[in-house]
Amino acid sequence: MLSLQPKPRAEHITNPQDDTREDWATCPCGNRPDLHGYVPCDDEGNEVEPVPGGLWTDLWVCRSCGRIWHEESGLVLGRAQAGYRSLA
Ligand SMILES: [Zn+2]
Repeated sequence: MLSLQPKPRAEHITNPQDDTREDWATCPCGNRPDLHGYVPCDDEGNEVEPVPGGLWTDLWVCRSCGRIWHEESGLVLGRAQAGYRSLA
């Protein structure tokens, strides 16, 4: 028998890349692109410009709850430390 290590419950964004569905990229908090939406961010949840060669590493921050998630996997990596912070 494998002895499983207890690990934190992983959260995922639903359908991170399937933009053909109405429930595209649904956050566990219920946020969606057509509600509060998401903002490209760094690994601390600070807004970044998603430009080629820039700092962006395919992370998005939920504008509702501050969860930071990876675009490809939809895996929630953490939360913005002080909530969502905009450059504006
Ligand atoms: Zn959220």
